[in-house]
Amino acid sequence: MSEPALLTYRVTPARPEAHLFAVELLIPRPAAASLTLALPAWIPGSYTIRDFARNIVALAAEQEDAGAVPLWIEKLDKQTWRVHGIDPAAGPVSVRWQVYAWELTVRSAHLDRTHGYFNGTSLFLRVIGLEGQPCRAELLPPPTSELADWRVATSLARDGAEPWRFGGYRAEDYDDLIDHPVEMGRFDLVEIEVQGVPHRMALTGRHNADLERLRRDLEPICAEHAAMFGELPIDRYLFLTTVVGDGYGGLEHRFSSSLLCSRKALPAASGQGGDSLADQDYRRFLGLCSHEYFHLWNVKRIRPWAFIEQGLEREVHTRLLWAFEGITSYYDDLALVRSGCIDAKGYLELLAETMTRVQRNPGRLCQTLAESSFDAWTKFYKQDENAPNAIVSYYGKGALAALALDLTLRRDTGGGCSLDDVMRVLWQRHGRTGIGVEERGVEALAAEISGLDLDGFFERVLDSTEEMDLATPLASVGIALRWRPAQDANDVGGVVDALEDSAPARPDIGLRLQPGASEASVAVVLDGRPAQLAGLAPGDAVIAVDGLRVDAGGLEAAIGRAPVGEPVTVHAFRRDELMVFDVVPQPAPADVCALRLLGADDGVDAAALARRAAWLASSAG
Ligand code: ZN
Repeated sequence: MSEPALLTYRVTPARPEAHLFAVELLIPRPAAASLTLALPAWIPGSYTIRDFARNIVALAAEQEDAGAVPLWIEKLDKQTWRVHGIDPAAGPVSVRWQVYAWELTVRSAHLDRTHGYFNGTSLFLRVIGLEGQPCRAELLPPPTSELADWRVATSLARDGAEPWRFGGYRAEDYDDLIDHPVEMGRFDLVEIEVQGVPHRMALTGRHNADLERLRRDLEPICAEHAAMFGELPIDRYLFLTTVVGDGYGGLEHRFSSSLLCSRKALPAASGQGGDSLADQDYRRFLGLCSHEYFHLWNVKRIRPWAFIEQGLEREVHTRLLWAFEGITSYYDDLALVRSGCIDAKGYLELLAETMTRVQRNPGRLCQTLAESSFDAWTKFYKQDENAPNAIVSYYGKGALAALALDLTLRRDTGGGCSLDDVMRVLWQRHGRTGIGVEERGVEALAAEISGLDLDGFFERVLDSTEEMDLATPLASVGIALRWRPAQDANDVGGVVDALEDSAPARPDIGLRLQPGASEASVAVVLDGRPAQLAGLAPGDAVIAVDGLRVDAGGLEAAIGRAPVGEPVTVHAFRRDELMVFDVVPQPAPADVCALRLLGADDGVDAAALARRAAWLASSAG
């Protein structure tokens, strides 16, 4: 190839059988005798240190017109290298390395003979000092002819490459370069259009999905978000979906998102299973698409100040993830009902599940929402057996905080202001301008544009572990809430026709078993509940209750039949030691959410019904 004028990254899926990408970086006009290269420690959107540099192998550098003698490379730390001995008067410097890619997640890289996938954070070394320069990415095909039918799906701007082909692409700067995941292989395309902007979904992996159905359901969801913000700031969008037997995940980018989903979550072309929107797995997949798409505004363009100011070398702490993940989680489901994808009852089912998931973990009484956000790096992303006791999710509780804020704004301004208005102003002031959001910026902005004093609200919801009051805001839109005890371990609540008293609480000892295991292996012991008081611990293998052998199902059944308040004898192994515990079952706590949609017949006034209609109405009008 001819001598490049720009920083150029060449990527080849060189050895699929060894899971190795080969990368070459050409620096056309080196300015000094040395240059420093570094790889990010984390990928934006996934807040934990991943040390991508551990997968780099065989780094080498040479300079043209300098006798092709290898340049000396000094390693400075786990992710930084310095290349020495460069002659600025000689030709381009070429740096070559390989990247081991065998992690099939949306945040890393994966390569075998079926496909290649990578994020730039896994492959592209940054040249320190040249981050602001435009650069070129040359994506080269695999070297073997049997993979000659591979194509390329990426939202990188094309620079010579034909659509969906290997060839030249370009990026405005390093941040742009690493914000476009790349799929190489064989894929199907779903084509949709939102406000005249082409959107595509590329699906890799074996599937038999009804793509027309997917197209029909996805389009109005994207259109709803665009109408709510009032502006669609992109000229293209790509959902990169990898279909596997069992998996779930998503990661947002400015012009695309990467999704990982289970085959059974997609509507089947045969019309068999997965076909109905009532299908939970499919609804969850559409919710995931909705979530990542909403991020193209909220977090990719409206950004926390901290993320703009600090790099990807180490943790960046912010209290704002409740807004960037929580508000996004609130709107991902809300858009399903606003776009007509599900009805109000279907939406309340999703809401009840979120409320139950937050309520049944004692960690909500231990960690505030702002702390959950700040400590995401070491707590939310590094959950252990004590996590349900110690932390609260900034996704789940964050979504409920957004719900409470939205309904409070609507009620207290007489419908004059809502969270939609807050999001639009955030977009105007921060998204369009690129000015970062200060740590209390969302709170200040909500108070400013609503004219309300929200200090007490935010103090309680973000900075205290007080139980959130959701009954009052829900009542303001004619929805009744009641907490009831769980009927079994899988009970996540839902919508009911009447809120009369349910069956009496079943006996419960407050432990969760290892999911999927047939033996009764203790995964979580809930704080302050009978199992903990009796001395049971995570990892214990329960073998008998009152002298009778139990497996996982047997333990739940035996406790369910035990009299409340009277001890049962539990035998369990801890390591290789048999232990005996006297456990006193108590009534299961009322931590499952039941919601009921009320009407005029139930005494709900017209104002509340009008508020509900406005809240759930399409933004497109
Ligand atoms: Zn998210």
